[in-house]
Amino acid sequence: MCIDGQERLTFCSNDYLGLAADPRLAETLCSAAERYGVGAGAAHLINGHFHPHQRLEEELAEWLEVDAARLFSTGYMANLGVVGSLVGRGDTVIADRLNHASLVDAVQLSGAHLSRYRHNDLEDLESRLSRARGERMILTDGVFSMDGNVAPLAELVVLAERFDAWLVVDEAHAFGVLGEQGRGSFEAAGLVPGERVLRVGTLGKAFGTAGAFVAGAAEPLEVLLQRARTYLFTTAQPPAVAEASRQALSIVRDEGWRRKQLRALIAAFRKAAGQLTGVELLPSITPIQPLLVGDASRAVVLAERLADRGLLVPAIRPPTVPPGGSRLRVTFSAAHEMVDLDRLLSALRECTILK
Ligand SMILES: *Cc1c(COP(=O)(O)O)cnc(C)c1O
Repeated sequence: MCIDGQERLTFCSNDYLGLAADPRLAETLCSAAERYGVGAGAAHLINGHFHPHQRLEEELAEWLEVDAARLFSTGYMANLGVVGSLVGRGDTVIADRLNHASLVDAVQLSGAHLSRYRHNDLEDLESRLSRARGERMILTDGVFSMDGNVAPLAELVVLAERFDAWLVVDEAHAFGVLGEQGRGSFEAAGLVPGERVLRVGTLGKAFGTAGAFVAGAAEPLEVLLQRARTYLFTTAQPPAVAEASRQALSIVRDEGWRRKQLRALIAAFRKAAGQLTGVELLPSITPIQPLLVGDASRAVVLAERLADRGLLVPAIRPPTVPPGGSRLRVTFSAAHEMVDLDRLLSALRECTILK
């Protein structure tokens, strides 16, 4: 990127497959805008639901081998929609403490009781499930956005079945990235989601476009259509964006080399970054590879030193992460080449040894 006239090699985007600037998507967006216009003009259930929306929903459902998918304008809205449609006052949502902010807000807005379990702690989750009232929902990120680690899905599935709970998994950082086919955390874990599993995907990350969707069984998806306030009471996303997302989906499906390139970058980074002094590599197999620094002001100094060397790596501090958990959040994209990684590593070696 060029920021205020200065070139920066970035390691902070969620554009994991390097599709956001893909000329094929730009071309599709433009020609679809010529055909359908720029705005959808109304909500989906009025007359804002165009062919590209419908086809994209069908193709997403087919790709994930589920009954249906429903589009939302953003991931934030998809999370508000899925939680608010399925639970409410008198119900309990048991949620991982490190969940994305939109999931926390979703529960609060739904009126359900929010019970937060220690991060990935199954015993804590189980005891909260056994005490929960009303309809139960387990709510988790598939990949945690600030740590890059994954949820213990196999165990979550078992607990959800045992307690007859919904299991809602936010796959914002997993779809397109995890699994051979890029079908996310369930594929990576070798699991087939059951009838009470709903997955939320965002299109603004690995897909390189904008928008989001919820995928799952026919019945809950029908409830979403009837009840999700962030679906009903908002203008549909521009149909041209949905058309671009259809093409992004076919690229996500067909261009497996992008996931291979990511895996190669991640493996090479982890091997070298494990040797750095004064920062700690976290256990992550995903393109989110944070370097734990601890102290907030030191994290800022490190980010500034990297910026002096032409690199953009953000310092993430409280309240986004817990106190003492400040970090450099490094993320990789299939658009990075090995020479880019070498530049990052040599800059990190120089910056971390300075006082
Ligand atoms: C980015 C993100 C969202 C929100 O998605 P948007 O489409 O950007 O609104 C939701 N959940 C998680 C885990 C995210 O990282």
